[in-house]
Amino acid sequence: MARLGPFRTVLGLALAACAVGCTTPGPQPGPDSRGAGRCGGEPMFAAGGERATLWVRSSSEFRAASQTIYRAARDALAAGLADPAWTAEPSQSGDLSALPPAVVMDIDETVLDNSEPQAEMILNGTCFDDFPATWDAWLAKRSAPAVAGAAEFIRAARSMKDPDGRPVRVFFITNRECVRRAGVESACPQQDDTAANLAALGLGSPTLADDLMLKGERPEWESEKLARREAVASSHRIVLNVGDDLADFLPGVRRATLAERDAARCTREDWWGRRWFLLPNPMYGSWLVTLGQDLDAALAAEPAIPGDCPGR
Ligand SMILES: [Mg+2]
Repeated sequence: MARLGPFRTVLGLALAACAVGCTTPGPQPGPDSRGAGRCGGEPMFAAGGERATLWVRSSSEFRAASQTIYRAARDALAAGLADPAWTAEPSQSGDLSALPPAVVMDIDETVLDNSEPQAEMILNGTCFDDFPATWDAWLAKRSAPAVAGAAEFIRAARSMKDPDGRPVRVFFITNRECVRRAGVESACPQQDDTAANLAALGLGSPTLADDLMLKGERPEWESEKLARREAVASSHRIVLNVGDDLADFLPGVRRATLAERDAARCTREDWWGRRWFLLPNPMYGSWLVTLGQDLDAALAAEPAIPGDCPGR
């Protein structure tokens, strides 16, 4: 493969990440890449991204990893339900037995697998300008498959109860954004699409429309998910949180440095794998945005963060 500018890859993946709620960098000029000339503009993807997308799209390893995480999450949920002081939301503490139990989950690359449009955008050389329409068309297809283990986990969670017999309610906090669509009356067709996609996977529920919390659905529901977690925490004990991005769990990490992000990870170091469960996403995320546009420099640098948290 020809040596191509790494920043183009970063930009493409960062934009893909922005489809699910990150800060969007401005377009950058760069070398030619696959798809150039086809779209008549700047393609989103240059080199790279293929291996990460194929790992998600085609590997048994990814499926085994996500099944592993979801089965561990199910066991942790059972343990957490039994303890009225157990919470996965830092703003909650003390005896929370007055609140019914809930699980908070992200949608993209946590419950629904979007490797198909990722692959198509790489192959087609999708342009920056075409990305929002491409992403919205994908949502409108309502055909994303489930991440391995996710559907089994959600069904199991909804069947579980706390010691007072109250069932677990699953809330989906997603940065799929409410955007008007031509010819559609709904103010948030993306919510309808996501609900239909989940229902097609056997994950519908009578409260699903209320359980889906999209970016922009309310003015204060921005990319930062804290306001939505706090909204859930006002009425429910959040027993477990499942996502694929550090920002699904911790506030203020989208524009932080690598060191700051990892310091945030370490603030609740003992929650990972017990109250917080993170699915691997090598395709995009706030981690990639944080690395910046020069991946060669990032590769050449000494590891910026240690494996263990301070004091461990
Ligand atoms: Mg996600």
